[in-house]
Amino acid sequence: TAFGFRQVGEGEKQGLVDAVFHRVADRYDLMNDVMSAGLHRVWKDAMVAWLSPPKRPGFKALDVAGGTGDIALRIAEASGSQADVTVLDINGSMLAVGRERAEKRGLGANLTFVEANAEELPFPASSFDAYTIAFGIRNVPHIDTALAEAFRVLRPGGRFLCLEFSDVGMPLLDKVYDAWSFHAIPRIGQVVTGDGEPYRYLVESIRKFPNQENFAAMMREAGFSRVAWRDYSGGIAALHSGWKI
Ligand code: SAM
Repeated sequence: TAFGFRQVGEGEKQGLVDAVFHRVADRYDLMNDVMSAGLHRVWKDAMVAWLSPPKRPGFKALDVAGGTGDIALRIAEASGSQADVTVLDINGSMLAVGRERAEKRGLGANLTFVEANAEELPFPASSFDAYTIAFGIRNVPHIDTALAEAFRVLRPGGRFLCLEFSDVGMPLLDKVYDAWSFHAIPRIGQVVTGDGEPYRYLVESIRKFPNQENFAAMMREAGFSRVAWRDYSGGIAALHSGWKI
């Protein structure tokens, strides 16, 4: 590529992603704040506000690639500690951090942690009212398979929400963002975790991820209706919404 990155094959991808998150699990929350200058909190708050989980018992949400529980904890809090949220992640180290955070916040009873792959969800069809995935789907080798699984496990009338890095449409901001992601992020990764290479790979995965329009098309392809999205911070992140009707 223009930036001299090594190309990563599909088969190799999941292994690389897993190695990164095993290594950074206990510093992951700090890294997010540093690398996004705190913005990820604003985007995640907006995601859960768009979902607006009901303040009554019985609402079941599945947060895929849920990592250390940022989205799941917000959903549980927004529901007045009434929602049942399943945090699913392929990485046990990330889930362990999430479990600890949930206990500390007194939300342990609301959250269930499941170690599994987004491409093969261990749940029957029509199990959930909502499916959320934040900064996770671009790490999954087969996005179409993950979307098909999302559609399957949602009940009819269920909601799909995906927060992901996206295409920056604003001139100038895109230049600043490029400099930040290609130069600063691998360097911060190097300092905090001792290895910048995995971050170079993560930045590259953002570049390869479909833009807002194309991801919306993939959602429709998977069966979702009323597909819409909102850009945050000039498109650095985008939130896609769809319904299983
Ligand atoms: N959703 C959390 C957040 O927003 O802070 C964590 C996002 S983190 C950038 C990406 C997560 O995706 C990691 O915890 C990683 O283990 C998980 N992941 C990667 N591939 C996965 C897969 N195939 N199935 C499920 N989770 C996966």
